[in-house]
Amino acid sequence: MSVEIILLALSPIFITFIAYEFFKHRKQYDIKDSLTNTALALLHQGSDAIALVLLMPFFYWLHQFALFDISLSLTTVFIAFLLQDFLYYWFHKASHHIHWLWAAHVVHHSSTKMNFSTAFRQSLMYPVAGMWLFWLPMIIIGFDPNTVFTVVALNLAFQFFVHTQIVEKLGWFEKVFNTPSHHRVHHSVNKAYLDKNFAGVLIIWDKIFGTFVEENVEKNGACRYGIIGQIKSHNPFFISFHQWQHMFKSAVKAKGVKAKLRVLFAYPTSSVPTKSILVNKDSESAKV
Ligand SMILES: [Zn+2]
Ligand SMILES: [Zn+2]
Repeated sequence: MSVEIILLALSPIFITFIAYEFFKHRKQYDIKDSLTNTALALLHQGSDAIALVLLMPFFYWLHQFALFDISLSLTTVFIAFLLQDFLYYWFHKASHHIHWLWAAHVVHHSSTKMNFSTAFRQSLMYPVAGMWLFWLPMIIIGFDPNTVFTVVALNLAFQFFVHTQIVEKLGWFEKVFNTPSHHRVHHSVNKAYLDKNFAGVLIIWDKIFGTFVEENVEKNGACRYGIIGQIKSHNPFFISFHQWQHMFKSAVKAKGVKAKLRVLFAYPTSSVPTKSILVNKDSESAKV
């Protein structure tokens, strides 16, 4: 089953949650923002579907060199979930630390709202940025490409439910799983929260690799959502391409091959508006 079909099949559930949150917590919504999120979701699904059609033959070609012949069982499906979630953690962390990947991922963070519809806010550029590269180890190990992309879709489907402010803390669940509370931290520009909580389904990876921060209103203030150097546009194309445009312009301007490569692949730093203040200055003073 392809990623798109799984997410499409689940869309009535997603829409029900959005409708409930919209009518019960109207203040957390801006209709223009949610419509933009929906347009971005459709563009993202379209580009993902095209990319999968184009890349599937390559994935199956690669699969013939797999190290193991893995058949589906409860144990192997469990391992597939665990492994994919582990790889997702690294994909997500890399997306915040490597400018090339941030150029796509910034789309997801570029709203100052946080509600279920924020989960829809995705970049059509993920296939170009190379999100799929992170799943190749699974194919090389021996998981069937279709299994891999089904697991990817289910991981993303889980993540829909962590985009909300209406759920506070969930007891023991917080210790093991990514939750609305953990993900609110991830979407915040509060200084203590920047580049934290990269989890997909399991929060344990952040705890193991030292990127976990607990949501704490008394200590860190209420979450302030968005990006450093907030953009104001509702144009899905501007939102999708503004960082790419900026990155390539900066790369052209940079003197020497090393400097150009640094613009493309190092941490988004001083030459980049969306994260320029992040590295050097106190983000509390940044406009969001
Ligand atoms: Zn992120
Ligand atoms: Zn998110």
